[in-house]
Amino acid sequence: MSPAPARPPRLTVVSGPAGVGKGTVVARLRAERPEVFVSVSATTRPPRGGEVDGEHYLFVSEEEFDELIAADALLEWATVHGAARYGTPYAPVRAALAAGRQAILEIDLQGARQVRDTCPQARFVFLAPPSWEELVRRLVGRGTETPEQREKRLLTAKGEMNSMAEFDHVIVNSEVGQAVDELIVLLGL
Ligand code: 5GP
Repeated sequence: MSPAPARPPRLTVVSGPAGVGKGTVVARLRAERPEVFVSVSATTRPPRGGEVDGEHYLFVSEEEFDELIAADALLEWATVHGAARYGTPYAPVRAALAAGRQAILEIDLQGARQVRDTCPQARFVFLAPPSWEELVRRLVGRGTETPEQREKRLLTAKGEMNSMAEFDHVIVNSEVGQAVDELIVLLGL
């Protein structure tokens, strides 16, 4: 039997509430399917322990972020949790798609809405928690934020949960491996 024809490259946006595990799911996908391009965002937030510049994020200063905006180098950008700016460098995404690779952005809801405006042909995937209680448990459990930051995150997450209907697909992240498998099927890999 001849192999199934490769799906044409398409931009896929993975979004969902803070704490749902978007980063974990996309990191696992990247490890399992290195042929998929996963965008590395620029951010003004400082690195957390173990984060590598250029691998997890491009850690930039406020001035450097301003320059990226001024140069029209970002496909989308947003201030997340009222704290730091995050954005998707456009050139690597364009290059990956041109090279025939599936491309993934793991971004917040504000960014996903911008991409819907500029790239309506993209595919939009909402990663949902099994329940609101589980989401709260995960947000609190991470323990990397102050109580004030956590409250802010919970508030943002509530609004983000209400936006599920704007997405083309919903994947419930009950178990990471299963969520990754569902994403792989969606991508046609
Ligand atoms: P963290 O600081 O915990 O790594 O990420 C915080 C939030 O920023 C996550 O919800 C993540 O999806 C979002 N984020 C990461 N990169 C980008 C980006 O390039 N653009 C937008 N709009 N959000 C991003």
